[in-house]
Amino acid sequence: MKKIIELKNVYKDYQQAGTLQTVLHDITLDILVGEFVAIVGPSGNGKSTLLNLLTGIDHPTRGEVIVDGVRLQKMSGEKLTSWRGGHVGIVFQFFQLLPALTLLQNVILPMDFHAALPKRQRKQRAMQLLERVGLAEEAERLPSQVSGGQQQRAAIARALANDPALIVADEPTGNLDAATAASVFELFAHLRDQGKTLVMVTHNEALAEAATRKLEIRSGRIHADDSRLSAH
Ligand code: ADP
Ligand code: MG
Repeated sequence: MKKIIELKNVYKDYQQAGTLQTVLHDITLDILVGEFVAIVGPSGNGKSTLLNLLTGIDHPTRGEVIVDGVRLQKMSGEKLTSWRGGHVGIVFQFFQLLPALTLLQNVILPMDFHAALPKRQRKQRAMQLLERVGLAEEAERLPSQVSGGQQQRAAIARALANDPALIVADEPTGNLDAATAASVFELFAHLRDQGKTLVMVTHNEALAEAATRKLEIRSGRIHADDSRLSAH
């Protein structure tokens, strides 16, 4: 299978209170197309930092991050933003929908930035995505007018806007109750079945169970990497 992510001897240092702290130590990791990787581990141990390197939100201090054949450190500014828009869908714990835009407008926005689809087709695609996540009726509502679970489902629709091969999610159910979280997992499981690559930080046991690979990060190192899990 083709590699979609390659990390080679990656280190990340942060300046904290005047001292340099190494948050990621020598991470070497390949993720293949179609894997569903659950990243687990205690809080403050580098999980979000690792995800931010995969999306190019942040760059490593040393080492290489290659996503879909592209060395992310080579890119910055608009070029990186544009690349990310077409290649990676990102889902956050606190949804991060734009509050002044309707759910529909939130889903259209990444298509406007990326501009791969003609303008007249964007609304139709956004509606299809909202239907897919069960939000056709709520399309014209603002984020504040729907529940947390609905906001997260809209955020997933937004992450899919440009049909990225890779979806990265940082504790996507961390702010949802168990029943709502379950409906969000179903969406992720469905994406996995469609051959998307998913990399997700989660504390949720059920979501980690749905993954085909479990990566445990402790003190900025890969503590365990169990890819013997079979796809469901
Ligand atoms: P996790 O997601 O596992 O909870 P993080 O990756 O968010 O952990 O954080 C790992 C460590 O890096 C923590 O000590 C955190 O304070 C530090 N850290 C994260 N981001 C920054 C930053 N932008 N500047 C300085 N320190 C940071
Ligand atoms: Mg985190």
